[in-house]
Amino acid sequence: MSRIAHYLQEHLVGEVTDSLDVRRYFAHDASILQITPSIIVYPANENDVRKTARFSWQLAERNKTLPITARGGGSDTSGAAIGSGVMMVFTAHMNRILALNPGKQFVTVEPGITFGALQQTLYTHGHFLPPYPASSAYATIGGSLANNSVGEKSVKYGDMAQYVQKLTVVLANGEVIETGPLSKRDLNKKMGLTSLEGSIYRGIDGLLEENQALLADEKSRIRARFNRSGYNLFDIKKKGNFDLTPLFLGSQGTLGIITEATLKLVPHNPLAELAVLSLDSLSELQDALPSILSLEPSMCEMLNRAAIVQLTKANPSQLKGVLQNPGAEIHLILEFDDSKEGAQKKSLKGLAKLAEKTGGYLMIAAGNEDRDKINKLRRAAATMHLMSRGNAKALPVAEDVAVPTDRLADFLRRAAEIYAGGGMQMAAWGHAGDGVVRTQPMLDLAEIGDRQKLYKLQDLIYNTALNMGGSLSAAAGDGRMRAPYLGHIYGQEARKMMLDVKNIFDPYGILNRGVKTASAEEVKSLMRTEYGRRGHEHLPQG
Ligand SMILES: Cc1cc2nc3c(=O)[nH]c(=O)nc-3n(C[C@H](O)[C@H](O)[C@H](O)COP(=O)(O)OP(=O)(O)OC[C@H]3O[C@@H](n4cnc5c(N)ncnc54)[C@H](O)[C@@H]3O)c2cc1C
Repeated sequence: MSRIAHYLQEHLVGEVTDSLDVRRYFAHDASILQITPSIIVYPANENDVRKTARFSWQLAERNKTLPITARGGGSDTSGAAIGSGVMMVFTAHMNRILALNPGKQFVTVEPGITFGALQQTLYTHGHFLPPYPASSAYATIGGSLANNSVGEKSVKYGDMAQYVQKLTVVLANGEVIETGPLSKRDLNKKMGLTSLEGSIYRGIDGLLEENQALLADEKSRIRARFNRSGYNLFDIKKKGNFDLTPLFLGSQGTLGIITEATLKLVPHNPLAELAVLSLDSLSELQDALPSILSLEPSMCEMLNRAAIVQLTKANPSQLKGVLQNPGAEIHLILEFDDSKEGAQKKSLKGLAKLAEKTGGYLMIAAGNEDRDKINKLRRAAATMHLMSRGNAKALPVAEDVAVPTDRLADFLRRAAEIYAGGGMQMAAWGHAGDGVVRTQPMLDLAEIGDRQKLYKLQDLIYNTALNMGGSLSAAAGDGRMRAPYLGHIYGQEARKMMLDVKNIFDPYGILNRGVKTASAEEVKSLMRTEYGRRGHEHLPQG
C-alpha cells in the first residue's frame, strides 16, 4: 500500500485500498473516457469525507496535489465520475435513509443510496421523488443531485433542483456547511466569517453584483428548459433570499462533496393512464406537441423510427406486437397521473381528438396487457445504450442535447441529416415534452476514422442545438466531454465567470479536477480505445 493510502486508512473508519484491480475498475464511468485513480476510499461517515478533504488541502498548501472525485453509481456519461488521486465511493456505506416523514413530505438521505432503492421505500409510503433518471437502478441520489438529473416525469415535475430543501456539503478544505435560503441579515453574517465558507459567500456575492447584466444576457440566450452547462449562477438570488444550493446542483462534485440531502416528496398515483401516439411525420410532431403539452402529461417520451428499426434488428422479439404501426416516424409515450380520475379522462379525450385531427395512431392502455406493452416500449429506450454492431458500440456522444420544444422537430430533421452525412442512421429517443434528445452514434473507438467522425458529429450537433437556443447538457452535465464547449455556450466572458466560481470554492483545484475545465486536447488524450460498461462487483459488503 502507498504511504498516502496507508495514512488515510489509519485515520478513516471506512476502507482504503490502492489495489490495481479496484483502481482499474474505477478508471471508467459510462463515458468514453478513462483515468485511473491512485487510491479508493469508501467513506463510512461524514467525518471520513471531511478528513480526506482536509488531508488533500494540507498537501495542496505544500504544492502537492491529491485530487478527490466523488462517485456514486458511476453512470455519468460526460466523464465526470473518474479522476486521478482519490476516488471517494459513496455506495458502500453512506447509503442510508436518515429520516422519512411522509406526513411532512420530506426524506433525508446519505448520497450513496440508489435512486431506485429510495424510490421503492417512498412508494410504500404513497410518495415518490419524481426526477428519477433512466439509470435509477444504479444511479445514486448524490450523483443525481450533482448532475441535477431529469427523467421521464420531468415534463410535469421538473428536475432534482425543485426537490432539494437542504444540503450538507464538505468543502474542499474539509469544512462542513449547510445550504438553504438566507435572508439579507443571515447573508451578512455568513460573509463576516473568516472561514472558507465566509470567503465563498463574499466571492459569489461579489461575482453576482459585478456581472448582473452579463448573467441576464446569457440566461436569455438559452431557451431550452434544462441546461447544466457551467454553474447555475442564475438562481442564487431569489425572492430576496440568497441560496448557494443551485450552485451545487449540476456542479458535478467540483465545488463540494454532498454528504446529506433533505428532499421534498410528492404523492404518487399508481393509477395513471398510459397511451402511445404514433405520428407519420416530423411536421405532425411540430403541430401536435403544443396541444399535447397543454393536456399536462406526466410523461411525454419519444422514440423515432430508426430507433425501432435498430432495436428490432438487434432483438427481433423485444418489441414484437407492441406497436400497431412500427413504421411511423415518431412514437410518443404519454402518461397522465392527475389524482382526479376526471382530469385523466379529460386529457385522454383531448388526446383522442388530437389524434383524429393529425391522423396519428393512438393506443390508450385498456388493461394490464396494454400497459405492459407500453412499458416495454418505454423501457426499450434504456437498452439503446447497449447496442453494438461488430466492434462498433452505441457511444454516449452528443447524447444529452435539449432544444426548445418549438424547435424539436427541426432539430430532429437537421440532426438526422448530420448523421446521414456521416453515413449513419440516427436512432433518437428522449424526453420529447422537454425537448431533450438522446442519440448515440454506432462507432468503433479503436478506428481513427471513427474517432474523427465522432468529433465532427459532436461539433455539428452541438452547433445546431446552440443555434436553436438549445443547451448541450440537459441533464448529464459538462463533465470533461463538453468542457471544451463552455466558451461556445456562454461566450468567453461568461466562461471566465464560471471558472471564477470554481476558484472561489476550490482554489487549489482539488475537487473533480478537470471536470468542466478540460481542454479538447485533454479530452482526446483520455479517450478509451474500446467502449463498454461494467457491473459494480468491486464494492465491499456491509
Ligand atoms: C443508461 C443510462 C441512462 C441514463 N439516463 C439518464 C436520465 O434519464 N436522466 C439523467 O439526468 N441522467 C441519465 N443518465 C446519466 C446518469 O445516470 C445520471 O446523471 C445519474 O444521476 C448519475 O448518478 P450516479 O450515482 O451514477 O453518479 P456518478 O456517475 O457516480 O457521478 C455523477 C457526478 O456526480 C458527482 N457525485 C457523485 N456523488 C457525489 C457526492 N456525494 N457529492 C458531490 N458530487 C457527487 C460525481 O463526481 C460526478 O461528477 C443516464 C446514464 C446511463 C448510463
